[in-house]
Amino acid sequence: MTALCVYCSSADAIDPAYLALAREVGTRVAAGGHTLVSGGSRLSMMGEVARAARAGGAHTVGVMPTRLMPREIADDDADELVIVDSMRERKRLMESRADAFLALPGGIGTLEELMEMWTSRSLGMHAKPVAVLDPDGFYEPFFGWVRSLCERGFVRTAALDVLIWASSVDEAFTRLGL
Ligand code: AMP
Repeated sequence: MTALCVYCSSADAIDPAYLALAREVGTRVAAGGHTLVSGGSRLSMMGEVARAARAGGAHTVGVMPTRLMPREIADDDADELVIVDSMRERKRLMESRADAFLALPGGIGTLEELMEMWTSRSLGMHAKPVAVLDPDGFYEPFFGWVRSLCERGFVRTAALDVLIWASSVDEAFTRLGL
């Protein structure tokens, strides 16, 4: 069994198309017989991924720092809800419990999590695949800028190359080897 860690938005006022994308990912996690690892919130895209995964029979693991529980509302229905003391512990546990990482559209929290797994992969500190699922160009302004940093010599081409880019759920799962 493979565990997929999904990073995505916990914000409420977002385009419902992204909630649908999160459900599609959750459904695909279950269809592939995988485990879902997430931040353990029942809000927004995070909640949608977890509910869709469970609806399909997947095992879901949520990791939530105590201090965030009032704000992010813990996913009490998670098969495993792990309450931790800090954000660092949350990220450490999410990393250790997962075999692969997938970032969906999100805000600064999602970006931070993606950047950590991407940069550490590019430095050879782990060998787990990291992908971005971007069906509509959501990340294009950001990654256009990162590409420009590559052209200006700040970012190695090899670092860009280790990040998997996918525009559909199927492509993301196939390229993650799931
Ligand atoms: P956002 O993309 O901002 O909606 O946040 C998505 C998730 O990332 C939320 O569960 C946040 O708690 C989490 N998050 C926010 N900041 C950080 C951080 N520094 N490290 C790890 N996760 C974070």
